[in-house]
Amino acid sequence: TQFLSVSDITKVYKAANRQSVTALDDVSLDIDDGQIIALIGPSGCGKSTLLRMIAGLDDDYQGEITWATPPKPGRDIGFVFQEHALLPWRTVQRNVALGLEGKGADKASVTARVAELLAMVGLQDFANSYPSELSGGMRQRVAIVRALAYNPQILLMDEPFGALDAITRDRLQDDLLRIWEQTKKTIVLVTHSVEEAAYLADRVVVMSARPGRIRAIHDVPLPRE
Ligand code: ADP
Ligand code: ADP
Repeated sequence: TQFLSVSDITKVYKAANRQSVTALDDVSLDIDDGQIIALIGPSGCGKSTLLRMIAGLDDDYQGEITWATPPKPGRDIGFVFQEHALLPWRTVQRNVALGLEGKGADKASVTARVAELLAMVGLQDFANSYPSELSGGMRQRVAIVRALAYNPQILLMDEPFGALDAITRDRLQDDLLRIWEQTKKTIVLVTHSVEEAAYLADRVVVMSARPGRIRAIHDVPLPRE
């Protein structure tokens, strides 16, 4: 079933004293419930821009983004960036708990939810560690489950594994597939890697730059029932 529809999006960045940049030119894309979509293409083709539009972080564009169920701001959209952006002065437990606290949830249920999330990525023994005590891959796993804490409708990932070495990247890709199997979340993933797109995605969207356009959409349904 259709989850999200991007129709005829055009985005122009206007700089006061520079030429304006057409980052997206009439881009349309349908996303189904539970799909993993990869956006690939050269640097500057508008991948991050498209992700920000979907995230609702920028609503200055032409065209329309239509949701089957409109997301509640801040809750229904999980975001993971290339840099993990964990708070260094908070433990892993308290980083993941961040969004869950102060919403009327009692402490015991927050603790239980965090434990469940950390177990999904094998980090249950690191709840009391600080980000600086973890490897880059572990930190990114924390960032991924933190984005899942609210149980968002959709997970948006901007080069989530781009800063990691090859072996760590392969492991995290498998972690992500395992998370997908458990949650069946709709995931939109920006990547530079054709290999990563082919491994993870059911639908690979190839973009080209100047201006940002979709060149091809490849559906590669994976045998992951
Ligand atoms: P990608 O993620 O594919 O590398 P981006 O979406 O970051 O591409 O950028 C698309 C185009 O828009 C590029 O030409 C980039 O320089 C430009 N751009 C991105 N963000 C801004 C901004 N805030 N102001 C002006 N131009 C921008
Ligand atoms: P990436 O490849 O996605 O996206 P970039 O280096 O293109 O990384 O962009 C990093 C950040 O800088 C983004 O937040 C983007 O909006 C901003 N940015 C990119 N190009 C420009 C630009 N020409 N002018 C202003 N901001 C830009």
